Amino acid sequence: MAKEDIQFVQAREILDSNGHPTVEVTVALKDGVVAVASVPAGTTTGEHEAWELRDNDPDRYDGMGVLRAVEHVNQDIGSSLQGMDVTKQQEIDERLKQLDGTPNKTRLGANALLGVSLACARAGAMVTRKHLYEYLKKVYGFKEGTYTMPIPMFNIFNGGKHADTNLDIQEIMVVPKGIISVREQVRVGASIFHKLGRILVREGMDTDVGIQGGYAPTIESTTEAIGLILQAIDAAGQTSGAGVSLALDVGASAFYDERKHQYIFKIDESFLTTDQMISLYNEWTTLYPIMYIEDGLDQNDWVGWRQMTEELTRGRDMQVVGDALFVSNVERLSRGVSEQVGNAVVIKPNQIGTVSEAVAAVQFAQKSGYKVIASQRSGETNDDFIADFAVAVNADFIKAGSLARGERVTKYNRLMAIEQEVS
Ligand code: PGA
Ligand code: ZN
Repeated sequence: MAKEDIQFVQAREILDSNGHPTVEVTVALKDGVVAVASVPAGTTTGEHEAWELRDNDPDRYDGMGVLRAVEHVNQDIGSSLQGMDVTKQQEIDERLKQLDGTPNKTRLGANALLGVSLACARAGAMVTRKHLYEYLKKVYGFKEGTYTMPIPMFNIFNGGKHADTNLDIQEIMVVPKGIISVREQVRVGASIFHKLGRILVREGMDTDVGIQGGYAPTIESTTEAIGLILQAIDAAGQTSGAGVSLALDVGASAFYDERKHQYIFKIDESFLTTDQMISLYNEWTTLYPIMYIEDGLDQNDWVGWRQMTEELTRGRDMQVVGDALFVSNVERLSRGVSEQVGNAVVIKPNQIGTVSEAVAAVQFAQKSGYKVIASQRSGETNDDFIADFAVAVNADFIKAGSLARGERVTKYNRLMAIEQEVS
């Protein structure tokens, strides 16, 4: 038996940052290396994502328990991986896919598979004595020894399904794209976050936060929120636009009425068609320093997406980003590329179920000239895997929530540590 061989794999049910169950996996190797990883969970989970297996037992955690997924790891998966060389990550992920055997990971659950995939990658890094980001570069053929740090997108204003307020849009982010180092980007982001808090207090607004740690007051209009953030950028001594841009994750599928083909806005009780949504984005991106619109339309509206992409990218540098549309899936992304839909993709490993498939989606995007945004989920744990992942694959941006709450800042803290190591 070689030291890289897997001795055992063991899973358990833990809680995520929203108090819902999720899967944590331990992988132990022959030489004593023990690696642990845990799986995040979405709130606005895309219709086309790989299957997140929940128990549906109403007597436990409102049906959200993951004991069946845990059982799959402890039995089928564990016994199949025993004795495998943990450094053969692609082979392990292929084995996981085959064991599941369904197109969408419905048998074993993407949460079971991803927990194992992440823990194996971490064990592989440990046994080869490499930093996780370095190890992933090597495994997937990214040039080692050169690093481009992803630019963080700080989600400082939460709405949609991430907060119980009237803001329909899910995330308003600040992107310190004109600022050089992660360390400075984090400092500036935190400064804007705190200035925004003070502005909200002054305006008599609530400073409680939503599930990604961003402020979530009740407001009068979407543009009021944007205005408050611009004031905060200014108060932090930054220039909006050149220094710090805005990015929106609309999460439009969550308020789309499929039957009526309309987007239903609570904030002003309006109903917008696809054309009107695109006009709204045209207006906002003209009036405000917005560089990025994610999930601006419903996850099934390929035709609308194409039109939106064409209009918003005409003559300017605008990221039109698919998250629930592409679900980190090469097939859906490849349809997007051939139909000229979007120009950037969010990559969330749990949308697809293994590290190798997530990296394949990144590599396909990069080959196709799409920008890559590595992302956490709204239900997180303190696992900071995504930070190493983002650096390993040369992601352009990283989304890890706000500058408050432990499960969010741990990702940014890890990025700063990596930056220090590689510079
Ligand atoms: P989710 O939100 O994790 O709830 O899907 C994050 C996102 O939409 O980017
Ligand atoms: Zn999103």
